[in-house]
Amino acid sequence: MKSDNASTSLAALLPSLKQLFEGSGTMVCLYNEADTLVYANHIFYEVTALPPGSLPHWRDMIRENHRSNKGLLIETDDIEDWLARAEQRRRSVPYRQFEIDTVDGRWILMSETVIPNVGILGVGVDITRAKHTTTLLQHEYQQALVEAETDALTRMGNRRALDRLRRLLTLNGQNRVISALMIDIDWFKPYNDSLGHLQGDECLRAIADVIRSGFRSEEAYPLRIGGEEFLILMVDADLQSATQVARRILRNMRARAIPHPASEAGQVTLSIGVASGKVTDDASISTLLDEADKALYQSKHTGRDQVTLAS
Ligand code: GH3
Ligand code: MG
Ligand code: MG
Repeated sequence: MKSDNASTSLAALLPSLKQLFEGSGTMVCLYNEADTLVYANHIFYEVTALPPGSLPHWRDMIRENHRSNKGLLIETDDIEDWLARAEQRRRSVPYRQFEIDTVDGRWILMSETVIPNVGILGVGVDITRAKHTTTLLQHEYQQALVEAETDALTRMGNRRALDRLRRLLTLNGQNRVISALMIDIDWFKPYNDSLGHLQGDECLRAIADVIRSGFRSEEAYPLRIGGEEFLILMVDADLQSATQVARRILRNMRARAIPHPASEAGQVTLSIGVASGKVTDDASISTLLDEADKALYQSKHTGRDQVTLAS
């Protein structure tokens, strides 16, 4: 009979295969057609935490790992249901590859090959290090993306963040009302000239905090878009609520009272321009920013330390 031939030839081959598998560095296990273990190398016993040399049924191996909470990590409240599902997958295709993890935190990439009339050959490779490296790389990559769009001094979004926001707003913000607050520090060049650039940087950081203190809505995106220029984009905020935010920022700025030796006011002040409009496409955002810019210019030329609304 064919099956006898295959089994016989396997039995004949097993001693030399064992030798090969013991030193292979990978986990190897062979189950017969009844799913009882007929051979496993020492790595298998180490990974599954079974007594070396034991030859359990596949179900009992899983049950034991689940019961003792050692070896393979099996997370279920209903082990029999888990077994029934896993068993369905187990012989569903001639070759399968999947990842399993162990209770002590290792990752094993398993390959199972169904050998007709013999059983299932399982080979597992420890991929823990590769997994960690991948996770680390993904984390670093995400971090680098965030950093690329964050201004290091103030931790606000930068121009690249603005570009992304513009794309998102034109995609998802169609017909929503957006307000733009354009903010510029008054007499900041004389501030730097009299107190030094380092003090200037310190002042920028303090102003960023004041700006952040001006709104509660989560739908407000503060950005540092130039050396001493800030922009807040507010989604679903009309001119009135945006103006309230602008006035609150000016009040908080005055309350903060950062001394400015070269300004008539005696302390650092801000000028703000506010504009609102519906977003239809990227051009409409450009128009909005232009209007806020013009309003800011107006604030500068009519005395500074004030808010101007776009007409
Ligand atoms: P105005 O009221 O018209 O805005 O006057 P201003 O002096 O603020 O305007 P101006 O554009 O002449 O000067 C802006 C100054 O901002 C020039 C530069 O010294 C300063 N500045 C720009 N970026 C930075 C920065 O990153 N750190 C520091 N400390 N200063 C900066
Ligand atoms: Mg400026
Ligand atoms: Mg300025």
